[in-house]
Amino acid sequence: MEENQEKLAPESNGGGGAVRTICVFCGSRPGNRPSFSAAALDLGKQLVERQINLVYGGGSGGLMGLVSKAVYEGSRHVLGVIPTALLPEEVSGETLGEVKVVRDMHERKAEMAKHADAFIALPGGYGTIEELLEIIAWAQLGIHSKPVGLLNVDGYYNSLLSLFDKGVEEGFIDPKARNIFVLADTAAELLDKLTMARLAADEDDGTSTTPGPGGDEDEDEEKGAAAGVKRKRTT
Ligand code: AMP
Repeated sequence: MEENQEKLAPESNGGGGAVRTICVFCGSRPGNRPSFSAAALDLGKQLVERQINLVYGGGSGGLMGLVSKAVYEGSRHVLGVIPTALLPEEVSGETLGEVKVVRDMHERKAEMAKHADAFIALPGGYGTIEELLEIIAWAQLGIHSKPVGLLNVDGYYNSLLSLFDKGVEEGFIDPKARNIFVLADTAAELLDKLTMARLAADEDDGTSTTPGPGGDEDEDEEKGAAAGVKRKRTT
């Protein structure tokens, strides 16, 4: 039964439309709290229930392994994108589903972004935080317009969120860019918000070139921010 391996991972072209594939960034370790593993399994289950495919970094350890296994066993397509350096099984373990080998970490990130309609970060370490911040920075620069979601399990990201607030307070982060991502404590809530953000991006597409009579620039920007900031550069 390799049904979920045969389907090719679709490429995503923009910020609107249905959420068919989500790129998940998460720890290659499980973390110390059982709630982190539970959240990874729950996210996998939610993706399966909503018929959403997974793109991820291809590791089989920690939260990465838990999410990918749950999605794979639920017969959704799993695409693991692995740079050559991490390919050896002793590093990445046995990857489930389709595996795409790329040259380096930069190519991996671009490849993961290409296939995804939205991004989710679960708790994780430097790797996860770096991936999350780069995808947020890309949204801010208008390089992509796909929604980004932060699953703040047990308040794991509270101190990062405080740093973002500090960035706004000290004038380094545009207040409009503060909510460039959506935030939730549970996978179900986060997926609902990401779906709404994609819909908002669609609406935004419809109004962006010809704002209707009385079209409100601020309102348009706000909608964009909720959707992961579309088109408008905030820097
Ligand atoms: P970290 O949060 O530091 O554990 O790093 C997790 C992120 O870095 C994942 O989303 C992966 O993209 C990447 N990564 C780290 N370790 C591995 C590994 N052993 N195999 C594959 N990817 C990894």
